[in-house]
Amino acid sequence: MTLFEKIIAREIPAQIIYEDEHCAAFSDINPQAPTHVLIVPKKPIPRVGEAEAGDQAILGALLLAAGRIASQIGVNSTDKGFRLVINHGRDAGESVPHLHVHLLAGRQLEWPPG
Ligand code: AMP
Repeated sequence: MTLFEKIIAREIPAQIIYEDEHCAAFSDINPQAPTHVLIVPKKPIPRVGEAEAGDQAILGALLLAAGRIASQIGVNSTDKGFRLVINHGRDAGESVPHLHVHLLAGRQLEWPPG
């Protein structure tokens, strides 16, 4: 099992704030913003570039979950806002080989990212 599968199975503790048929979300252990949530598919797709056509519903569910979570925490507006990040591979800084969407919010985020 991947680290994130163990979190979803409640074998490793985490603050799970959202769950649906396809995905779950929990606070990042090393937050890079006042709000830093990871949205993770229950299916352990290793990384976004390895998703297949049959994963379309799962990929859609991740973004819909992001919007719902942003509403839940009060940043789903244009005056506040949030950023979604997916890291694929070494150059992007991927460290956990189980697809996840970072949701960052709660401060002014810089662009371009580092
Ligand atoms: P990435 O670098 O895009 O692969 O992101 C992996 C993320 O997982 C990092 O932001 C880590 O801080 C986070 N992470 C690693 N272990 C845990 C854990 N046990 N609970 C919550 N987040 C974690």
